[in-house]
Amino acid sequence: MSDRHVSFMSALCMGRIEESLIVPFPQMPEGERETVSAVLESIDDLLEGHAEDFRTWDRAGELPADFIDELKEFGVFGLVIPEEHGGLGFGPTAYSRTLQQLGRHDASVAVTIGAHSSIGMRGLLLFGTDEQKARWMPTLATGEQIAAFCLTEPGAGSDAAGLRTTAVRDGDEWVINGNKLWITNGGIADFFTVFAKTGEPGERRNISAFVVTRDTPGVSVGPHEDKMGLRASHTNAVYFDDVRVPADHLLGEEGKGFKVAMQILNSGRTGLGGGCVGGMKRLIEMATAHANGREQFGRPIADFGMMKQKIGQMVVDAYAAESVVNVVNGLIESGNHEYAVEAAISKIFATEALWRTADEALQVSGGNGYMCEYPYERILRDARINRIFEGTNEVLRLFVALTAMNDVGTQLTELASSVRGIFDDPIKGFGLMSDYARKRVTLASGVRGPTFTTLHADLRPQATQFEGGVRTLARAVDRILRKHGKHIIGKQFASKRLADIMIDLFVLASVLSRVSHAIEAGEGDVAQQVHILDVFCGQAIARVEQNAARIDDNDDETLKAVADHALQLGRYAWDNV
Ligand SMILES: Cc1cc2nc3c(=O)[nH]c(=O)nc-3n(C[C@H](O)[C@H](O)[C@H](O)COP(=O)(O)OP(=O)(O)OC[C@H]3O[C@@H](n4cnc5c(N)ncnc54)[C@H](O)[C@@H]3O)c2cc1C
Repeated sequence: MSDRHVSFMSALCMGRIEESLIVPFPQMPEGERETVSAVLESIDDLLEGHAEDFRTWDRAGELPADFIDELKEFGVFGLVIPEEHGGLGFGPTAYSRTLQQLGRHDASVAVTIGAHSSIGMRGLLLFGTDEQKARWMPTLATGEQIAAFCLTEPGAGSDAAGLRTTAVRDGDEWVINGNKLWITNGGIADFFTVFAKTGEPGERRNISAFVVTRDTPGVSVGPHEDKMGLRASHTNAVYFDDVRVPADHLLGEEGKGFKVAMQILNSGRTGLGGGCVGGMKRLIEMATAHANGREQFGRPIADFGMMKQKIGQMVVDAYAAESVVNVVNGLIESGNHEYAVEAAISKIFATEALWRTADEALQVSGGNGYMCEYPYERILRDARINRIFEGTNEVLRLFVALTAMNDVGTQLTELASSVRGIFDDPIKGFGLMSDYARKRVTLASGVRGPTFTTLHADLRPQATQFEGGVRTLARAVDRILRKHGKHIIGKQFASKRLADIMIDLFVLASVLSRVSHAIEAGEGDVAQQVHILDVFCGQAIARVEQNAARIDDNDDETLKAVADHALQLGRYAWDNV
């Protein structure tokens, strides 16, 4: 295990490629490979038999209890629970690969298992004491208890820190009061990880995390929500009315619950990413079968350039998403704790890639794609939520950009021997710092820039393009910091641009690492993988350069004025006859 505490993206923003963090391309640990293969095969056996049921259950809006019992018997609730507590003890790579297989068959099933393992019981896994783990993990592993994660409230969505649920200490107990909204597995869960404000009224109240079990008096659950997608997955409000839990149900430290919540979400993100990749693989199978089989104008539609463009892009997106999810899994697996930004990037990229793929696969299918008889429309509906939950992609973009700028700002202020984050204080006089000034000159002149040295020599042309992108990124961070300083927090157009540059570069770095490994391993289809790299590299670098160029040359203020006008009127202004 490495004890390195370096974020690949934070270094990249300073113009440094920490290549040892992502090269060689991570592989599933040898010991897990065989078990995972067997699990994937059994998942196919179990779920293929239910292909028609998934459609029925989507319409009915419920996964029947006897199917959930089948899942329990199968052992799929114990994926990430250590073997000593009766689970399979899968690491992140194996877990995300398994969710991929579930996502291939049905998103409601993948989300039921994902909400249990990625977020519902992950607080116990990450922060539980030995005693807490021994008490609950065995029943969570068998599915006797299903887990749910209770953070969101009617007034606290993206701004989770604004939650109102309270937990007040009374002797050896905590008394919890509050309402949680849209909780996945809410209707079937017996184990809730609940976030509540602690501390006396009048004091500054911090968040703490608690385990609450369903059988505790005062816990109740609202009706199953009627949703656009993931209709069979249970989503419910969960109410806590004077719920008393013993003091030892506190998870992690009192007052550190926000950190617990964020670490749970970071750590579980590649599960969602894996599910998205599984969905994309399935869509590619469906779209290629349709394109080959459907004839128009006397030829299979697969012969038409615009159909090839769509299918080619689906493959590029799926490969890129799979690469970045695996690289993040590798970062987690290596013991490097600095992966929050990279995990957020993998979530943003994979969820948007699945959305594009679902939309284009439906288009390839024409009118069939729109008919409920075929699964395209269901997959499209199911895919939509991914850009909203586990952190909306907008809020995650802010996190990606602001963390990068905070890290760079902190490194700069460290150079000036006073550590202050960008959130606290303007970056003072960093133009005077000689080290940084030198680096800026180097980056700008391109004399001795960042180098990616450990990739296979055949990939030098693509590595050179990536290095150019890194110089652009470092210059972009510099430019944005100089332009906005601490006011960057209110400059979301600029933050989004920076986040998009970072997303493209991290995904490109992941694809480079993977293709390099494929060449070194002598994989048979490596020429195809190089084609994918070439396409993605061209697309990503073009976007990077365009986003960088728009930092100074943009119409942000004009577009904001258009939005403000509409927001003020509350309607479109030219609705004339
Ligand atoms: C099917 C489903 C399952 C869910 N499962 C769970 C669960 O198991 N547990 C749980 O705790 N929660 C769950 N949620 C809640 C989910 O996590 C929230 O919906 C999500 O965090 C967004 O919150 P919100 O819906 O209140 O949107 P809001 O936070 O109100 O956001 C609305 C819009 O404003 C944007 N926005 C918000 N803040 C900013 C900002 N600072 N800058 C720019 N844009 C911003 C958002 O990106 C979004 O586009 C689930 C939701 C759904 C629909």
